Amino acid sequence: MAWLEREKAPIVKGDRIDTPDGLWEKCVNCAEVILRKELNENLNVCPKCDHHYPLPVWERIYALVDEGSFIEADVNLRSADPLKFADSKPYSKRLEDFYKKTGRRDALISGRGTINGRGLHLAVFDFQCMGGSMGSVVGEKIARLFVRAALSKEPAVVVSASGGARMQEGLISLMQMAKTCAAVAKMREAGVPYISVLCHPTTGGVAASFAMLGDINIGEPNALIGFAGPRVIEQTIRAQLPEGFQRSEYLLEHGMLDLICHRDSMRSTISRVLDILAANVSKS
Ligand SMILES: [Zn+2]
Repeated sequence: MAWLEREKAPIVKGDRIDTPDGLWEKCVNCAEVILRKELNENLNVCPKCDHHYPLPVWERIYALVDEGSFIEADVNLRSADPLKFADSKPYSKRLEDFYKKTGRRDALISGRGTINGRGLHLAVFDFQCMGGSMGSVVGEKIARLFVRAALSKEPAVVVSASGGARMQEGLISLMQMAKTCAAVAKMREAGVPYISVLCHPTTGGVAASFAMLGDINIGEPNALIGFAGPRVIEQTIRAQLPEGFQRSEYLLEHGMLDLICHRDSMRSTISRVLDILAANVSKS
C-alpha cells in the first residue's frame, strides 16, 4: 500500500513529519511535503519554495570548491577555557562532547582550495557547534586565514552563520572582533580581495566585525543579518520595525549587501566575482 493511502495519518511533530524511515520532511516555509533525499540533493533548499535551510559545514565546503582540492588548516586549535566557564555543563566538556560526536574541534573549518582552478583561502562557520559562536579558536583561525591570503596574494572567502561572540569566553571572545578586523585591514593593504558570504543567521559580534567588511558582501536569500535581534531593538527603541527588517533583501535595498545569491549559483557567482576582481587588480 502506498504511503499516502495508509489509514493512519503520520505523526506530525512541529515542522517535521515522523515516518518510519524518515523519508519525508514538511517545509517550514511553504508547508509542502518534500522528500528528504530531494532536499539534500538540492543543497538543503526547498525545491518547492526556495527556502534555504542550514547546510552542514562540510557539505558547504564540497559545494563550493573543486573536488579534492580542499586542504584543511589549523586542525588542532583548541580553546584553553581560561574562565573555566560552566553553565549546565562545563565549557570544556561541551567542546569535548562536540568533538566526540562530530570529530570537529570548534565552530569554523578553514583551509585552502580552488574554485574553477583559482586558489583561495576559505573558511566556513559550523553552526552546529554552539550556534557558530566566535571564541578564541574561531577568531584565531579567521585571522590566520586572512594573513595566509595576504602573504600568498590569493583571495579569501568566509561563509558566516553565527550567533555572535561566544559568551563562555567573555572578553576574550569580544577581542576576536578587533583581531579579525585588523587582519582584514592587513589583507586590504596587500590588495587581496575578500568575499564575505552571509547566511542565516549572521548576528552579534560576527556581523559587527569581519563579516560585514568584505570587498563584496553576498547574502543568501532571506537570511537574518544584523547585530542585535529585531525583538531586542523593538524593546529598546519602543517602535515597530519595518517589514523584513534585517533580512537580506532589506539590507540589499539599503546598501548593506552587494548582492543576494541563491545557494545553487553561489559557487559560480564567487568564481565570477573573483575573475572580475582579479582582472581589475591586474589593470591597476
Ligand atoms: Zn518550501
